[in-house]
Amino acid sequence: MKQKAISVAIDGPAAAGKSTVAKRVAQILGFTYIDTGAMYRAFTYAVIKKNLDPKDEIASCSLIPEVDIELLPGGVVICNGEDVSKVIREPLVSGNVSYIASYKNIRLALVELQRKMAASKSVVMDGRDIGTYVLPNADVKVFQIASVETRAVRRYEENLAKGIPTSLKDVEDDVRKRDYIDSHRDFAPLKPASDSVLLDTSFMSIDEAVDAVLKIVSDKTGLEIPCH
Ligand code: C5P
Repeated sequence: MKQKAISVAIDGPAAAGKSTVAKRVAQILGFTYIDTGAMYRAFTYAVIKKNLDPKDEIASCSLIPEVDIELLPGGVVICNGEDVSKVIREPLVSGNVSYIASYKNIRLALVELQRKMAASKSVVMDGRDIGTYVLPNADVKVFQIASVETRAVRRYEENLAKGIPTSLKDVEDDVRKRDYIDSHRDFAPLKPASDSVLLDTSFMSIDEAVDAVLKIVSDKTGLEIPCH
């Protein structure tokens, strides 16, 4: 008999390590990983590429009918046929994505896509509003946090490894700014779902955070966690 699809929502502030943890958890469980932040980033890139101002809601929303975003296995992000996987991590996109993500019509379009991607298969989806809005009936909801200093250092080191030049101060400013905008927007703001489990990873290694999420999945769903 086919097993029921299971959905795992991992939300939290910027650079809390959600995508690293979500990707590994998905791989261990054999679930599909869906990086919703990459979709808002790809939309932001499309707006900038058209020389439109991401702070202009009407201009940005005018692109909704023509922006086509695909998430492929291996973290590849395609926007209107172009591989944007790397460019969407650049500071120009990071510094503007929270404006784009605050526009209700853009969110509605991307949420529709996210729900379709999650339909009838087991997924680990990370973002800001997955447990509260995108998948309110998710089987497992985790709200992953870490201190802002820890998050800034992690993102700074990640950028270095990816060859994206940034300073630690700029990264910390970006993280604070995004958290502020993301948690103060009117529509589907960043906040823990009332039924989410809070996971503070400030003093955890990646492996420890992965194991903590797997334990939450197993406690909530009874799923047997494969050896890893
Ligand atoms: O997850 P990541 O940091 O790549 O997300 C980039 C931005 O996309 C966030 O700062 C937020 O503005 C937006 N976002 C969102 N809702 C999601 C995922 C991301 O608003 N579900």
